[in-house]
Amino acid sequence: MPGTRSTFESLVTRIAARLMPADAASHREVARGVLQDLFEHLDIDTCFLRYNDHAIGATILIAEWPPRGNVPDPDPLGTVYFRDADPIFAASEHMKKPLLIPVELPSDTPLDASGYVDRVRAGSGMPDVSVAAVPLVSGQVTTGTLGFVKEGYRPWSEDEVNALTLIAALLAQVQARVRAEEDLRRAAYHDALTGLASRRALFEHLDRRLQEDEPGPVGVLFLDLDRLKALNDFLGHQAADAYLCHIAERLSRGSEEGDMVARLGGDEFVIVLSGVSSLEEAMARAEAMQEAVGVSVALGGQTVGRGVSVGVALGTPGEVDSAALLSHADQAMMVAKQQGGNDIGVFTEDMNEKVERRTIIEMNLRTSIDDDHLTLEYQPEVDLRTGEILGVEALVRWKHSPLGLLQPGEFIEIAESTNLAGELGEWVIGRACAQLAEWKQRIPDLHMVMSVNVSPVQLVSMDFDTTVKSVLRRYAMAGSELCLEITENVVVGDLNRTKDTLSRLERLGVWVAIDDFGTGYSSLGHLQSLPVDTLKIDRGFVRNLEHSEGDRVIVDSIVGLASSFGLYVVAEGVETMGAVKYLLELGCTRAQGFLLSKPAAPERIEPMLRAGRIPLPWEADRWRWSTNENQEQSRID
Ligand code: C2E
Ligand code: CA
Ligand code: CA
Repeated sequence: MPGTRSTFESLVTRIAARLMPADAASHREVARGVLQDLFEHLDIDTCFLRYNDHAIGATILIAEWPPRGNVPDPDPLGTVYFRDADPIFAASEHMKKPLLIPVELPSDTPLDASGYVDRVRAGSGMPDVSVAAVPLVSGQVTTGTLGFVKEGYRPWSEDEVNALTLIAALLAQVQARVRAEEDLRRAAYHDALTGLASRRALFEHLDRRLQEDEPGPVGVLFLDLDRLKALNDFLGHQAADAYLCHIAERLSRGSEEGDMVARLGGDEFVIVLSGVSSLEEAMARAEAMQEAVGVSVALGGQTVGRGVSVGVALGTPGEVDSAALLSHADQAMMVAKQQGGNDIGVFTEDMNEKVERRTIIEMNLRTSIDDDHLTLEYQPEVDLRTGEILGVEALVRWKHSPLGLLQPGEFIEIAESTNLAGELGEWVIGRACAQLAEWKQRIPDLHMVMSVNVSPVQLVSMDFDTTVKSVLRRYAMAGSELCLEITENVVVGDLNRTKDTLSRLERLGVWVAIDDFGTGYSSLGHLQSLPVDTLKIDRGFVRNLEHSEGDRVIVDSIVGLASSFGLYVVAEGVETMGAVKYLLELGCTRAQGFLLSKPAAPERIEPMLRAGRIPLPWEADRWRWSTNENQEQSRID
């Protein structure tokens, strides 16, 4: 059908309107409709749209009209690699102008079309053909081909070629739009740093897996790297990012077909296991993953090894939703973490019992903040060189009936979340100072510091310094006999308010220590501007000092930092002689830990205070303690 200029114009207009709503989901269908329209208005036998994929070096069939009857499998016209393509397909890689056969092939590119004709014949069974191939061009890149084929001789008019060039330009726009949409989608479904599945992809996948009638159970592993924050602080952002990428790769490598490995953000990863049928199988997978992650990584000349805490949970499709299953795995991970990290926790029904236990604690706490229910234990802080006791830290316990003696891990957080932290904290400071006053009365020349943990809530309360001041007055204490331990996080919370309170405490002469240092989120720069005296190195870094070079680097940095800011450092959680050796080597002489003394009731601490020192364990053969408080330290050799 010979077309006039105006019929071509209306064809282009119609196709432009048709292409307008095309998106990633519909573009193939829309393209097929466009080709059908073109087929009906041009004198051709077949037409097609192909996209170039320069990443793999191939041209890919997107749509064609009319549909071919018997498409061979694989389709020789489906994906055609440029490297083994005939000259015409090869030309479509970078072609910028329409290629017309039989019309004058550009004389400077003597193309041999016979290979192309053979390929088309193989795909369609057509003999000699006329071809118009119009490139889709975006910027400088040839992104595809709009092609027309007619059996036998068929010249292409200038108007026709102009119209097809316009249509190819419209198709190139749709293609760019679709690609942008797909890129966005990829970004939403992939974690930018590691390339693992994103939170969103994870939830969609889990939603699918947990639909009723899907095969079950569905196993989930929740992984949380131990103390990653310190890597950030002391080895730098890039090192921590590189470390995360290493871990991501190991998790991917350790995964099985059908597993989904996702990063939830920070140092949290989730693996949705495919085809585990029991908790035992899921545990075995968890162990394998933990082992893979645990192997040290070389980063900028340092070997870094972090443990990973893994939570395991199983869910039955139709019975549990994605959020609940993930929360179960998360709870199980928290249990692993509470056991000291680098451990595996399993979600069990008795975790629901834990929730009930928590409810009981919550209900009882308010009425239990008094001498009858709460008690303090004390843990000495010691000079590692001499055994001299520099002070003690007061640690609260709750004598709960019927639950028994509760550790602070079980109720401090509850106190904080129910506005009881202020009341509890006041009781602790009062009791600790009363204890110090008693000791001072009974032990002449006792010089020591009483350390008390302060919850963030207390620190931002308006009258905290007034409370401290009145307690000091009540027990006739100098400010320098009291040390307040605050956590790092509070320092970031409300910096100005904190700074204010701390300055007023400083005027009272009390010491301020930052507890669990290295685990929080304070910027080290803040330290300089805060009236703080001591950093307590978190026990997580001390425990593996012997075996972890990374932890040694961190402790070394903290000691260096402290000395440049003129701060004291105390190592917490000293459990082994190996740790002591490294601490002394790194210049940290003050320490607390089970190796030196566990927290104990005041009557057990008193004889140590009387002696002024504890027997150092490496002298244990020569020194022995009598538990009878009336007896002095006795030497047996
Ligand atoms: P923290 O301030 O870091 O206290 C040190 C904790 O480490 C204590 O646990 C102590 O028993 C334990 N510990 C000491 N040496 C070692 C060791 O060598 N190895 C190991 N594995 N652990 C050791 P505890 O008494 O269970 O206290 C836990 C946390 O509860 C404290 O951590 C502190 O943050 C909080 N806490 C304790 N008492 C109070 C309090 O009166 N007020 C507030 N706000 N928080 C408190
Ligand atoms: Ca503490
Ligand atoms: Ca601590």
